[in-house]
Amino acid sequence: MVLAGPTAVGKGTVADYVREHHPEVWLSVSATTRRPRPGEVEGQHYHFVDDVEFDRLLAQEDLLEWAVVHGRARYGTPRRPVELALEQGRPALLEIDLQGARQVREAMPEALFVFLEPPSWEVLVDRLVGRGTESPEEREVRLATARTELACVDEFDRSIVNDDVARAAEELVHLMVDPSHQKEA
Ligand code: 5GP
Repeated sequence: MVLAGPTAVGKGTVADYVREHHPEVWLSVSATTRRPRPGEVEGQHYHFVDDVEFDRLLAQEDLLEWAVVHGRARYGTPRRPVELALEQGRPALLEIDLQGARQVREAMPEALFVFLEPPSWEVLVDRLVGRGTESPEEREVRLATARTELACVDEFDRSIVNDDVARAAEELVHLMVDPSHQKEA
């Protein structure tokens, strides 16, 4: 399953909830060139790599998809761990951005694509501004990106409204484990 959605909708928080409460779900650990934030654990939240290492992953075609997010750092999904999880029949979750989701759709069209939506545009703006970690210019860039990203909901198989993290995460896990929601292979 691929979980995508606009900037600051809370994809990471929903994924954290799944990581904590649903050990039966395998979560992909992305490689990224951005610096770790306080509390982030190498190998658990991300594999933190430098540009040279990221170039090496690309050259070896080790990434299932990759993208430059917010024009800053590179992020990518290591391919082999995803294949292993699928071979083991584990429910597998990729929390990635929209550009990455499109690449996975090319590579693995049988995946279920879920779009996480904010309860409203106002809530999304509040979340973007509330986080307070971006400069005004960067906030504008992110809002513009979010506007474009919100319009992409129709590309997805399902959408889930992130009105409450636990509720949205449970809906997501339910979609993953209930065979009636799987797509035809
Ligand atoms: P953050 O830096 O806040 O952890 O993540 C920023 C954005 O990068 C989020 O939208 C997240 O979904 C996206 N992202 C995280 N890992 C990957 C990845 O492996 N590939 C892609 N394409 N996007 C990712």
